[in-house]
Amino acid sequence: MDSSNNAQANDSSNTENIRVRYAPSPTGMLHVGGVRTALFNYLFARKHGGTFVLRIEDTDAERHDEEAVEQVERSMRWIGLDWDEGPDSGGPHSPYRQTERLDLYRDAAERLLDAGAAYYDFATQEELQEFRETERAAGRQPIYTGGPYREMPREEAREKIDAGEPYTVRFKTPREGETVVEDVIRGAVTFENRNLEDFVLMKSGGTPTYNFAAAVDDAEMEISHVIRGDDHLSNTPRQILIYHALGYELPAFAHVPQVLGPDKKKLSKRHGAASVEDFAEAGVLPEALFNYLALLGAGYSADEEIFTPDEMAERFRLERVSGNPAVFDETKLDSVNQTYLRRRPPEEIAEWAVPMLADSGVATEEELREDMPRLVEIVRLMQERLTRTTDLPDAIGYFYGGELEYEGEQFDKQFGKEFVQEAFPELVERLEGLPEWEENELEEAIRGLAAEKEKGAKHLIHPLRFAATGRTVSAGLFETLALLGRDRTLIRARHATEEMRRRFG
Ligand code: GLU
Repeated sequence: MDSSNNAQANDSSNTENIRVRYAPSPTGMLHVGGVRTALFNYLFARKHGGTFVLRIEDTDAERHDEEAVEQVERSMRWIGLDWDEGPDSGGPHSPYRQTERLDLYRDAAERLLDAGAAYYDFATQEELQEFRETERAAGRQPIYTGGPYREMPREEAREKIDAGEPYTVRFKTPREGETVVEDVIRGAVTFENRNLEDFVLMKSGGTPTYNFAAAVDDAEMEISHVIRGDDHLSNTPRQILIYHALGYELPAFAHVPQVLGPDKKKLSKRHGAASVEDFAEAGVLPEALFNYLALLGAGYSADEEIFTPDEMAERFRLERVSGNPAVFDETKLDSVNQTYLRRRPPEEIAEWAVPMLADSGVATEEELREDMPRLVEIVRLMQERLTRTTDLPDAIGYFYGGELEYEGEQFDKQFGKEFVQEAFPELVERLEGLPEWEENELEEAIRGLAAEKEKGAKHLIHPLRFAATGRTVSAGLFETLALLGRDRTLIRARHATEEMRRRFG
């Protein structure tokens, strides 16, 4: 094949009638690497006012699974990847599931057979296996080119088929020349045709291979830019050959690198989370995952971090996407997530918190609902300290319930000092006597007592914080106490006093 055929169609600056697609095989959960690729397709389409197509590549019968298709669609909707044409929404190239398009592949195979660009292959699995072994034994790469079948007259093949012999349909790959993938991201990648075997187009069961179905669909669906994972780069010369043989005009190709974990291995569940559902469960917001993944290796300038989808689309440049693998940085994701979490209304976060707090056992759903106005205020106070929604029970659980269990070593640290042992019971008395339980009064009482004792306020604030919350770090103490409420604070403070007496006499 002449490489000059490819160059023109690959011009990514041609931005009219942009049509891109995401074409998952529904084999399980949606991996963030796949989502990132889908996001690039989506942003590219949005930038150019183009069309984003969802195509389900489900011809691999064994792996076909209705639940898996729904899961992919659910994950895509969750993160905000809305498609313009797809299985449920339909469109001018319906249907969008490959198992419903089998006639198209059969027709295309017929056309290639008629044109002499493909042939029937009757070799059995055993024969193919033997061929590979012989070649390897002779120190050669096994490149199968059909043996006697490549040039077998059509009538002879027909007879075998009529006699019930199983067959596949193979592409007659040119034995010389080269096929060049003009990749928008990585430039020209050249493949010697003689290193490509006569690959299968139609399997013996009458279903297409991935390469054949993908090429036929991309052409029939008028896809202008094939943007996909770089694990498919070696498939692209085969698809280009199919395009040429069927007389289709080539789309542009862009191969997006994989997403790796910090150890430079493909990101997987081993790293904690790898699929959209994993991240959702781990308390990541959809807009944060969208923002983080869309920016990952997309070549936006380093100081830019938070964007709306529209802003991202506007700035997106396919040719700026990095050709190097992207390394997933959970800390960065957390920082983006924190930003988005701060932007959500406290009322909404409080709603999420109800079942989580109920699950953690600090109060019942009913109690929490009755307490909604306070819960909203608690969230407002704590919101900026949250990194993920899953932090909620731990971050605000202590605003519920009565007495706390104290960690012994920390307790001794907070209450071991003589001054605290002498002044803390007095502090509790002052708090008991407060006419109003509100922030300013609390502050005055605590600072006032410290001043009388000629001590810095922190000598009272730290043990009181620990007594009231069970921790050494919290939001501002006076606000925290106001929201904890009089009864709960005093129950805890008295309990801490008893504990102090028990431990220090
Ligand atoms: N079904 C293929 C996959 O999930 C899609 C490859 C492509 O985009 O062409 O890997």
